[in-house]
Amino acid sequence: MKKIFVILALLGFCAVKAQQNLPVLGEGYQDTPLIPGTQWHVHDNRRPYPPVVKPGAFVSIPAPADAIVLFDGTNMDKWCKGDGSPAGWRIVDGYMEAVPKQGSVRTKDSFGSCQLHVEWASPVGVTSKGQSRGNSGVIIQGMYEIQVLDNYGNTTYADGQAASIYGQYPPLVNVCRPQGEWQSYDIIFNAPKFADDGKLVKPAYITVFHNGVLVQNHREVFGPTGHKTIGKYNKHGKRPLSLQDHGNPTRYKYIWIRELED
Ligand code: MG
Repeated sequence: MKKIFVILALLGFCAVKAQQNLPVLGEGYQDTPLIPGTQWHVHDNRRPYPPVVKPGAFVSIPAPADAIVLFDGTNMDKWCKGDGSPAGWRIVDGYMEAVPKQGSVRTKDSFGSCQLHVEWASPVGVTSKGQSRGNSGVIIQGMYEIQVLDNYGNTTYADGQAASIYGQYPPLVNVCRPQGEWQSYDIIFNAPKFADDGKLVKPAYITVFHNGVLVQNHREVFGPTGHKTIGKYNKHGKRPLSLQDHGNPTRYKYIWIRELED
């Protein structure tokens, strides 16, 4: 009888949590640094999940005349490994696919403030959960990660789900598509500014549209993104764009960038 009572109480607790859109204390942490201006720790498992919104039809946006096409589905000429050696990812049917353990790839060129268009898809048939399901990332300047993850029917800590500014801001809404379907990020990145002595003059700002929906609205970035941490700004200039290898065969189809005046 006592057991049944405990089970009923537990079910009631879960139902209340679900109604409030609050996580049922799944994946995440509470022993990490506090995120500035919030009550939440980095990857806090109590932080509410963003509401799920079904996106409209997928639209691929062709590169305008003043954009640099970084990837068009045919070759990885503009990409390499972090150390400059040839990229270890493969081209399949008009897209590039992360090859686990081959490491992240980065552009050969460096960029500052920019508008960035990225089309990606989660790998098909992956059944693992949380951060292990289709994890990759669009890492601007190799330091500021917009998370790429399969969060269609898959939960994780809010500030680590798809379209989060990893470890800092959950997306406003979850507009993920199912595995294998193409999705888009349209990102506006304002690079941080530093004085000659290295002091931060202006932090980075990031705006993101996921599948055409605004999910990050001119967010002030607190420093380089990281796992269980928020990095400190160190003076830097233009840097390459990275795509993360997190052990999952995530796909990228079409990527272009427009550099912006600082
Ligand atoms: Mg990632």
